Amino acid sequence: MQINNLTHDPSTRIGIVGAGCAGLTAAEELRDLGYKNLTIIDTKNRVGGKTYSIRYGDTTPQSRGIYEGGTVWILPSPLYKKYKKRYGISPNYRLMPPVQVFDLATGRVSSPFLIKSKSSLLSRLRQLKTFFQELGKYTRYDDPGYLNPIYRAMNESSPQWFAKQDLDFIREALIPIANAAQFGHLEENISIAYVIRLLALLNRCSLPKKLLLNMPQLQEGNQDLWNRIGATHNLCLGQTIKRFSRGKKILLETFSNQWEFDHLIWTAPVDEFLRVADASPEESDIFSRVREIKRAVITCRVEGLTPGIFYCVKNTANNPLPPSYPLAIYEVDRGSKIYNFYPFMDETTTVEELKNNVVDLVKRLGGTEVKLLGEPLIWKWFSHFSSQDLENGIYERLEMLQGCDNTYFSNELTAGVSVPYGMEYAADLVQRFFSQKQSSAVKMKTSQELYVMEQT
Ligand SMILES: Cc1cc2nc3c(=O)[nH]c(=O)nc-3n(C[C@H](O)[C@H](O)[C@H](O)COP(=O)(O)OP(=O)(O)OC[C@H]3O[C@@H](n4cnc5c(N)ncnc54)[C@H](O)[C@@H]3O)c2cc1C
Repeated sequence: MQINNLTHDPSTRIGIVGAGCAGLTAAEELRDLGYKNLTIIDTKNRVGGKTYSIRYGDTTPQSRGIYEGGTVWILPSPLYKKYKKRYGISPNYRLMPPVQVFDLATGRVSSPFLIKSKSSLLSRLRQLKTFFQELGKYTRYDDPGYLNPIYRAMNESSPQWFAKQDLDFIREALIPIANAAQFGHLEENISIAYVIRLLALLNRCSLPKKLLLNMPQLQEGNQDLWNRIGATHNLCLGQTIKRFSRGKKILLETFSNQWEFDHLIWTAPVDEFLRVADASPEESDIFSRVREIKRAVITCRVEGLTPGIFYCVKNTANNPLPPSYPLAIYEVDRGSKIYNFYPFMDETTTVEELKNNVVDLVKRLGGTEVKLLGEPLIWKWFSHFSSQDLENGIYERLEMLQGCDNTYFSNELTAGVSVPYGMEYAADLVQRFFSQKQSSAVKMKTSQELYVMEQT
């Protein structure tokens, strides 16, 4: 493997694989640094990756006429702010309904922090204070991905960590939401590092938003920002990569094109990398350790449900549910009768099972008729490592790959899940390897530098 030092030459040919938020952020930040020879390649015929807005009707003052097939919430990030302004996205967000927890066992609906619990009011308040203070350690915009060595030691399981910290009420209140958002049926077995990284996103919000969880969306549809950014770059969409090889130059071949690059930023999943690349033994070893699941988004027209709901379905150890049971449901526009459902999938889950579980949930919520709007969208989801790999320093090994053979990785594996994390990691990677200035991420961090920014 070779590590080459980059000279700041604007004509350097840089290929970017993947036109999701990571790929487009990398392109945007490279162009800001003066690089002019950028090519973005994606297998799909659209940009945005997992940010995917689908029109179902007209836009009116009451409704966007859009449902989100991927990214649901716009979570605070200075980069969002910068790009929204740069690309003329409306300054006003559209606020979603507050999240409530629906307990399938009892039929009870309540705000997450008002759920029935053995914890007294005083204990709840103490836990809230302690927890949000603890999250402060992980709430930084310039601390992307798992670069911070703090995560290596965070390999104990999520339930163990919450019990040890005496934060049982927080787990009861927030885990149904974390499971609906990211972990599905996995929370009991994954490292606390992943859970904390997800919940740290909450800490970027104002206190009322943290408590109510009424999160914003872009009026134009969450994908629109990426459509606008993509339109200003050299995009090659609908390209299936056959192979690429790295010698003095990087040669990348699709079924209809061939490119020569000096550097390549890979923002697609790493199993795709292993399929087409001349992977080194280290790349093969690290990427073959990656675990993932699938999640689905099912959009239906439903009669008889309460309008304007956003429910997360409780699935804790006491209320186990099959992985394929929807863990969230919300009406996409109040009064539209169009609802999104969010189940996960394991190796055995069938599409039939997903649909049957949606019908079951609708029935339990008092709905009468369900009509699917198209087939479920199925996403590859949550690339992560085992606790053992985390403890053995897998993220340090992953970071050591950056720049080897002029190849860089910036995706959900390196960044963590969510658009802010994807953007911030990509921007930091560009600073670290393509700018003459030292990146913020390689500076030593002190706890005094921690801050929380209220954005929405
Ligand atoms: C249902 C759902 C809900 C979500 N909700 C939220 C939310 O509320 N808030 C939030 O911030 N985030 C949310 N996310 C997560 C967020 O969307 C992702 O973390 C983020 O979009 C990842 O961006 P990325 O660029 O790293 O990857 P992706 O968006 O996955 O982009 C990767 C790109 O690579 C392309 N690609 C794949 N394979 C190849 C190949 N072989 N060759 C070329 N191109 C390839 C893909 O087509 C894609 O465009 C959600 C995601 C889903 C699916």
